[in-house]
Amino acid sequence: MNTLKSNPFSWINQPLQQKLVKLGIHNELDLLLHLPLRYEDETRLYPIRDIPEGKTVQIEGVIVDCEIITHPRRQLVCQLKDTSGVLFIRFLNFYPAQVKAYSPGVRLRVLGEVRTGFFGAEMIHPKCRSVHEEAPLADTLTPIYSTTAGVAQSTITKLIQQILRDSRNTDFLAETLPETILTQYQLIGFRESIWLLHQPPPDIAMGLLQNRTHPAWRRIKFDELLAQQLSMRMHYRQRRSYRAPVLQEKNHLTQALLASLAFDLTDAQKKALTEIKRDLSAANPMQRLLQGDVGSGKTIVAALAALQAIENGYQAAVMAPTEILSEQHYQKFLSWFAPLGVTVAWLSGSQTKKQRAHELTEIAAGNAMLTVGTHALFQEQVQFSRLGLVIVDEQHRFGVHQRLALRLKGSETNWLPHQLMMSATPIPRTLSMSYYADLEVSVIDQLPPGRLPVITKLIDESRRSEVVARVREACHAGKQAYWVCPLIEESEALQLKTAVETYTVLSQTFPDLKVSLVHGRLHAQDKSAIMTAFSQGEIQLLVATTVIEVGVDVPNASLMVIEHAERMGLSQLHQLRGRIGRGSEVGICVLLYQQPLSQIARQRLRIIFEHTDGFEIARQDLRLRGPGEFLGTRQSGIPMLRFADVQQDMDLLEAARTAAEYLLHDYPAAAQRHLQRWLGEKKEYLRV
Ligand code: ADP
Ligand code: MG
Repeated sequence: MNTLKSNPFSWINQPLQQKLVKLGIHNELDLLLHLPLRYEDETRLYPIRDIPEGKTVQIEGVIVDCEIITHPRRQLVCQLKDTSGVLFIRFLNFYPAQVKAYSPGVRLRVLGEVRTGFFGAEMIHPKCRSVHEEAPLADTLTPIYSTTAGVAQSTITKLIQQILRDSRNTDFLAETLPETILTQYQLIGFRESIWLLHQPPPDIAMGLLQNRTHPAWRRIKFDELLAQQLSMRMHYRQRRSYRAPVLQEKNHLTQALLASLAFDLTDAQKKALTEIKRDLSAANPMQRLLQGDVGSGKTIVAALAALQAIENGYQAAVMAPTEILSEQHYQKFLSWFAPLGVTVAWLSGSQTKKQRAHELTEIAAGNAMLTVGTHALFQEQVQFSRLGLVIVDEQHRFGVHQRLALRLKGSETNWLPHQLMMSATPIPRTLSMSYYADLEVSVIDQLPPGRLPVITKLIDESRRSEVVARVREACHAGKQAYWVCPLIEESEALQLKTAVETYTVLSQTFPDLKVSLVHGRLHAQDKSAIMTAFSQGEIQLLVATTVIEVGVDVPNASLMVIEHAERMGLSQLHQLRGRIGRGSEVGICVLLYQQPLSQIARQRLRIIFEHTDGFEIARQDLRLRGPGEFLGTRQSGIPMLRFADVQQDMDLLEAARTAAEYLLHDYPAAAQRHLQRWLGEKKEYLRV
């Protein structure tokens, strides 16, 4: 359909093409979808006497006076006169050429906001253009586009206008949607919307245009959401068409593990497990997200799922985002599985070549039924014998590509292992509908009994000595503590340096305590030795960088001090805080902050202080940061929504969801056309 599009930019010079790419523009359709940020109205002239205050308008007049004044500061002030009155225009920065150009007698059109200033009605730094008498007015509103260095506003405008003209008698902007959909959702045409947004008629409702609720905007947003939903549904269908091993509930290993535990599963854990077990016994690959707040007990649920695979003679793999967490999982699974006679393998950076080779052989031979590791699990050398289930812990910490790679590991043609993803970052409904639409979700919405909520204290850096006293007291009383070093985003080297310094100072401060330091740059063996010592109670105070953020589970540690808490994100603070309050002691989390606090830092600290429920924290986090940052997809290069906002355009999202189902069912060709337009070569929107 789009002959124009498949011939991207042959007529635009190379350097300009490259600059356009910076704006995310790769072809002609991208240019037409480079929609205006806002508009200016140059279609009419206001008489000076009638200018509405505070509104951006265009006026035309003749310069009657122009002078440089030096008080209160140097500036150029001109008087512009029309038949109704006089307007002052002021330039605080100006070139000599301007002084010349604005000489008396020159006719100017100026566009700007009018205020009542010292001299009377005035405009500061208006957009100016000298014109002849009776020069024609613009016949559409003037679109203002976002630009980048070296690309003038006028260049973009010209390119877009040209493509619009060229598209007139082609099917470049042809309708992708059937009439029924347009009628049902009261949508205006695509071509019409694009034209309107680039060339709005003078009488259009400017307000609707500016706040992007005009029907033309709604059409574009709907199309974008529809493409996303279509892509998601198709992915879902595709997945359903794969086969997966049927892992029946045999219940001998799972029962044995349950019997060996010191606790009973919570109802929420049982419910999630039931859902997982049902999926595993189906012949299509499970793709389920297990959500549960920090400390809700996702690991044991994962272990029971793994045993169901193992009971059926299939291997399972557990992938963790950090070495520390991977080792902790290894130890934990080993302690649970070894007594059942199930061999557990571990792939780690700390292993010798020989150990690693041994593990690889065990995995390939199918002796090791469970394998734990970091993303090293999906390296090429790792060959599973019969991989039936992949478990991804703290899934949001992995890139999409890493997650996909592991899933493809066990896959032969037409065959995929089941996949269980776990996350402590709850996804608010608007986001899950949009970005996780092809996933099944189980939620553990209950903490194990007896947990007392962590007490959070906000303490100004200047009261550090009180905190030190409290740590000493707690450690002498047999408790253990974390001291989390500040995050320094700009430089990992600096962060390391700060961690080492903090450690040195704290070791001197607490000569009577066993203090250790753990950070990301340590060798895996050293990290592992320190974490083991800490979990066995041999270390009382663990100075740590944010490497301990995810998953670490040392129940006896009940106190945590976080330095420069104002620099950390909400989910990070929540995760860190989740390391304590895991045992019988009440957890205390001290957030040290340093003034002055930025507005956003203050809001974050207040939220983390007031809330312990991860879901509520996530909701507020989404509100503060927006979906792109929240999902952490900005850097991953996966297209996010450009026009629609899942929060604000919830109604359109719902509509697009229903329409996607309907389209796929009744109008598959239209669905294809629509996807082709919106995704082109990109093929898919974000998927998990
Ligand atoms: P998360 O969901 O954050 O991964 P974990 O799986 O690490 O949480 O569990 C946190 C702690 O709670 C662990 O020490 C675990 O053994 C314990 N735990 C899990 N389920 C229960 C339960 N039903 N009753 C008591 N303790 C539990
Ligand atoms: Mg966990």
